Amino acid sequence: MNITHTITNQNGEVIEAISNDEWQKSLEEMEANKKVHRHGWSDNAECKMCGRKMSNAALAKARSVHMTTSGDLVPVNANIGDLSQGFFEVGSECAKRVPKGFATKAGA
Ligand SMILES: [Zn+2]
Repeated sequence: MNITHTITNQNGEVIEAISNDEWQKSLEEMEANKKVHRHGWSDNAECKMCGRKMSNAALAKARSVHMTTSGDLVPVNANIGDLSQGFFEVGSECAKRVPKGFATKAGA
């Protein structure tokens, strides 16, 4: 997965970003993946990247990504003020696809 563009934060700093269509599965794939879950997982969080429900074991290993209000991913430590939509859980396998610095331990 590649950096697709940059955004400029409130301090004029240039931040690397990955556009939504680069990091997230298509809506069709996400919808199909959301339907796949096992008994007991139906209320579990979905991976923001692929839409799959995470098992309890997967949740324990989940990572977080930092998303802008436009749906871009930015490094987890990026200071983007009001442009931040917050942090979202992704599965550990999906998290391996993002560049270094773009995922952190969930809840950290
Ligand atoms: Zn995933």
